[in-house]
Amino acid sequence: MAWRLASEGLEVTMLERGRLGQEASWAAAGLIAPQAEAHEPGPFFDLAVKAKNSFDSIVDRLTRESGVDCEYDHHGVLYAAFDGPAAEELKARAKWQRELGAKVDELSAAEARKLAPAISPKVVGALHMPTNWRVDNRKLTQAYINAAVAKGVTIREGARVEAIVESGGRATGARLDGGETLGAEVIVLAAGAWSNEVRGLEQDRIRFYPVRGQIICFDARPGLLGPSLFSGGGILVPRRDGRVIAGSVFEEAGFNKSVTMEAMEVILSAVRALAPSLGSIPFREAWAGLRPATDDLLPVIGPSPSIGNVIYASGHFRSGILLSALTGEIVADLVNGRTPGVDLKPIAPARFRDGNFERVKITLKAL
Ligand SMILES: Cc1cc2nc3c(=O)[nH]c(=O)nc-3n(C[C@H](O)[C@H](O)[C@H](O)COP(=O)(O)OP(=O)(O)OC[C@H]3O[C@@H](n4cnc5c(N)ncnc54)[C@H](O)[C@@H]3O)c2cc1C
Repeated sequence: MAWRLASEGLEVTMLERGRLGQEASWAAAGLIAPQAEAHEPGPFFDLAVKAKNSFDSIVDRLTRESGVDCEYDHHGVLYAAFDGPAAEELKARAKWQRELGAKVDELSAAEARKLAPAISPKVVGALHMPTNWRVDNRKLTQAYINAAVAKGVTIREGARVEAIVESGGRATGARLDGGETLGAEVIVLAAGAWSNEVRGLEQDRIRFYPVRGQIICFDARPGLLGPSLFSGGGILVPRRDGRVIAGSVFEEAGFNKSVTMEAMEVILSAVRALAPSLGSIPFREAWAGLRPATDDLLPVIGPSPSIGNVIYASGHFRSGILLSALTGEIVADLVNGRTPGVDLKPIAPARFRDGNFERVKITLKAL
């Protein structure tokens, strides 16, 4: 986002309370996979497909300008079913996705095993989503930072924003917790799961909350897995250097980023069922991160209804890596007075002001 804005000639300062890129964007699995992430047609799927196109359109320039290869691997996703109901669900998913123009192949068990020999022999069928790809999200975050710096963005780490300073219905700046105020013509709120900690926007009535995800990382030989593997219970996402990311769970645990025995057990049993032949690859590390969720689990991108020159870019929940380029595109359009090429209504901050949203309660749940 900062890179995009600076590329269009704006003077941009990023304020980060800790170190840039060390929270959810660091913890993610790195999937750029709209079809694998969407369980039904609707606004999320439409947005996710646009996000993939937007990502595809910037990745070469990002690599060039940042000097960082984010390892955008084009291996696709293999989504496996292990019983009749799961196979039916995948069939239905293939149908609506195909009707909406997405590329998806229905595979027999033998075809699935041919494409991904590591997958369990108990697989009964699978979908192949050949254009659902993946990145190394830590490298991607570094690429965005480098490219932003190369375009003149100022970065201030250790700068926690306490409040938006407002006068006559317009934001005039951001106040840091040490008392310093930085003036700005436009403020973009992109504080992830912590977005409610920034004071001054209470009238918008948007609730952001953290949904913990945990990952177990293994060391395997490079190339052991081709496509990223999904089942209804877990995912396995390979990295180019051989690491295999196993995830993930969804839990409401406040701002607690602990790795827990319970979640490890859930992930391990799901991914062992998915690819039992990986049972002997060595454990490397485990981590947790906090997805920024909203009451309807859709992102919040657009102007604040109460302070028009504050733009939200938050609530990206389970898809902020996928949505990264599109978010930058939308924010740059709004800041520069252009009409974004996506329907902003489902993601508009104003939807919470009058709506009566039942918060979706999330308990420990795989994938
Ligand atoms: C386990 C896991 C797996 C995931 N897998 C995927 C995936 O495969 N694909 C995908 O697309 N998405 C995935 N996600 C979701 C994705 O990681 C998030 O949606 C995305 O990273 C959110 O980005 P963000 O910049 O909004 O939040 P963050 O990356 O959390 O960044 C927010 C930043 O704001 C800073 N901050 C907070 N408060 C303040 C303040 N007051 N002042 C200054 N700075 C502040 C924080 O320190 C932090 O650095 C996953 C998430 C998790 C946890």
